[in-house]
Amino acid sequence: MDYKALVEACKDDLVADLFGLLEIESVKGESSKDAPVGEGPKRALDYMLELGRRDGFSTLNVENIAGHIESGKGEKLFGILGHVDVVPPGKGWDTDPFNPEILGDEIVARGIQDDKGPTMAAYYAMKILHQQGAPFKYRTRLIIGTDEESDWQCTEAYFNAEEMPQAGFAPDAAFPLIHGEKGISTFNFVQKQTALDEDEPKIELKALISGERYNMVPEDAEAKLKIQQNMSEVIQSYEDFLRETKAEGSYEVDNGFLKLSIQGKSAHGSTPEAGVNAGLILIQFLKRLDLDNNAKAFAGFAVDRFVGRTDGAQLGMDYSHDEMGETSVNVGMINYTEVDGGIFGVNLRYPEGIDFDAKMDALKEDITEQGFTIEDLEYQPPHYVDKEDPLVKILTDAYRNHVDDRTEPFTIGGGTYARTLEKGVAFGAMFKDTADTMHQKNERMKVEELLKATEIYLEALHRICIKGEMDED
Ligand SMILES: [Zn+2]
Repeated sequence: MDYKALVEACKDDLVADLFGLLEIESVKGESSKDAPVGEGPKRALDYMLELGRRDGFSTLNVENIAGHIESGKGEKLFGILGHVDVVPPGKGWDTDPFNPEILGDEIVARGIQDDKGPTMAAYYAMKILHQQGAPFKYRTRLIIGTDEESDWQCTEAYFNAEEMPQAGFAPDAAFPLIHGEKGISTFNFVQKQTALDEDEPKIELKALISGERYNMVPEDAEAKLKIQQNMSEVIQSYEDFLRETKAEGSYEVDNGFLKLSIQGKSAHGSTPEAGVNAGLILIQFLKRLDLDNNAKAFAGFAVDRFVGRTDGAQLGMDYSHDEMGETSVNVGMINYTEVDGGIFGVNLRYPEGIDFDAKMDALKEDITEQGFTIEDLEYQPPHYVDKEDPLVKILTDAYRNHVDDRTEPFTIGGGTYARTLEKGVAFGAMFKDTADTMHQKNERMKVEELLKATEIYLEALHRICIKGEMDED
């Protein structure tokens, strides 16, 4: 089969159908009975299902929040999982984000990379195969979600109602292929306040605040201290601390209060080692001061549990997997007030192979005597498909037949849509040298990349769903 020629022949139709999809403002909106995540996402779903019917596929709408387009007959099912909702456009566009244009060799529009372009590429791969008329060994199903950018209610509703494919891919990330994603947990360490000791401390920690999100390294931290005597001594000691640690910070005296601030460096929560956690630096200074017992316990806990490493060893959560790497711990939010005590908001990511529940139970037990509890725990387990699995092999090979790139399939600390499939990988559609403009202004994709991705998907589906290569040994 001449994949390239088949795709080239339907290029105009592909671009025209894609433009129609890009024109729909499918940002999550007000929920109503007929449109659980808003009118825009629902219209984008209807649009795709209508294309499916036009082209002779069977389609299904699941609660106006997800749906599918299917080809072929038989027992086995192969899934492609894409989404047609988009994040809000934001400001600063050079074009109308919902009026797609081809500028130079690129299509510019909100959603072209994430994920309307790749979803349409996969749809056309399926459509070309369908038109070839060869019998399918796997029913091939394009599953369409409308809530990927927010709460994944779409896949939840869909897989509650519908069967899980034997295998599949999500064209919602990058080539060549992502076959493993760490488990992602967020939770809070919450301090229990105890009665204050009799002696009045010389220094009161009124408040500390650092960070706003679990999945970012805090770049700023501020603390407010009330100092009864020897203000200048504390300031001197802070200046010494900044010099010793080479931290970037400043202070301000205001009416008997001393305000300290630290400037760190932001980074994504999956790579805390790439950032500088401003809050943890500031706490290291506070630990040197003569604070009340609650503030002391707060600072002591941080130094004990977080400072110095990001692999979770101080929490008993460290683990290393050959391909997926190590546990990572990001303390994304730190908050202390005199009245409520301290909270540490943590984003902990972990590889396959660790007994997360057991380790969490042990940790809960362990921190009790330090006066802390764990609250608001949420997590998604790790997602992993063996690198030697035929699914991974065939998809990677299909990619290599169209691109001069021998990059190995890889694993990541983040989460992609593929993890909602039991046996699923992320497969495209960003190429090695593609500028990642997802969620940014002027989101764009080269026409050539759109066609190339379609060719790759066509070969992959041809080999898996028609030729049945996944079942050969
Ligand atoms: Zn996406």
